[in-house]
Amino acid sequence: MSEQEVAGLARRVLVGHGMALPQADAMAGVMAAAERDACASHGLYRLSGTVRTMRAGLVGLDAVPTLEQRAPGILVADARRTFAPYAFQLAMPRLMAMASAQGLAALAIRNCFHLTALWPEVEPLAEAGFVALAMTPSQSFVAPAGGTRPLLGTNPIAFGWPRPGAHPFVFDFATSVAARGEIDLLRRAGRQTPEGWGLGPDGQPSTDPAAILAGAMTTFGGHKGSALAIMVELLAAALIGDLTSAEARQLDGGVELAPLHGELIIAIDPARFAEPGGTSFTDRAETLFAAIADQGARLPSERRYAARQRHLTGGIPIGKPLIEEVEALLPAALSAT
Ligand code: NDP
Repeated sequence: MSEQEVAGLARRVLVGHGMALPQADAMAGVMAAAERDACASHGLYRLSGTVRTMRAGLVGLDAVPTLEQRAPGILVADARRTFAPYAFQLAMPRLMAMASAQGLAALAIRNCFHLTALWPEVEPLAEAGFVALAMTPSQSFVAPAGGTRPLLGTNPIAFGWPRPGAHPFVFDFATSVAARGEIDLLRRAGRQTPEGWGLGPDGQPSTDPAAILAGAMTTFGGHKGSALAIMVELLAAALIGDLTSAEARQLDGGVELAPLHGELIIAIDPARFAEPGGTSFTDRAETLFAAIADQGARLPSERRYAARQRHLTGGIPIGKPLIEEVEALLPAALSAT
């Protein structure tokens, strides 16, 4: 399928369940981009969770997020219970204008449903020349290092850095060992997880995806990932006045719909840090990237960009079971057309 076809399929499902077109376009766009970039855990697979959340009657299906500039560098978006990509899409031009004017600006998205990857947010900011950082809590599925019970979210952090004449440097990962979607995909495939991904409901280490989903996931890097996950709870929940992962899970009541909480995105104009006549920030960064490549190591997102190039020319391979799953989500009137 082409990226447009994937987006079209996702859009039909979302609009078929009552989502207004602008929000459906934003959601379908990030899901299609995930399929294009071989990020299966945030592609069409996410439609069923999105539709379940919509069917629960909680989503602002035709709501339009509002934007409020609280200070020269602080923009607050009330997503009004829409999914985060819609609020981000509406807020991004203003965030960039504020970051250009101020050198630094932060966007707090509040009151949003969130189940998408973060690279679709930091990548366009970096492509526009900004250094970008994004983070969001999720639901409390992850035990703190040394703990046995879920308390923290999978809490992803994404970072983007602009590069002249090249795709930006971007990384985007959960602070848990793996994203919850990856564990669920292993469960669906009847496979075990690698060692160290989580604990069963008894608090003991397990490699059974179903046991981990019922128990607790673990943070990457032990206490280091745990501290970063706590930082995300503090910055993207407590600081911006929205729910922590534990509060979001409590609100969800164990149904495991898309979580409702906030997200923090920071954009920096690197030119404002430049020393007149000094080495440019890009020169130093490119020297670093070249030294990394010299060792045979790859940069984060290189796999993703390579998949994008392959799929934009040769089409995106989507498995038949996934297509059938998505088509089953189409309301009867639409699937007949
Ligand atoms: P991964 O562990 O798969 O990898 C994440 C990052 O590391 C990517 O930028 C990836 O680049 C890079 N990377 C992987 N292997 C290497 C390598 N060998 N050398 C250099 N870089 C490498 O991510 P996660 O499973 O933790 O997260 C997946 C997604 O889940 C993220 O997009 C995240 O935003 C999303 N997520 C969303 C949540 C939400 O609530 N909305 C919650 C949790 C996660 P590349 O892509 O090129 O391989």
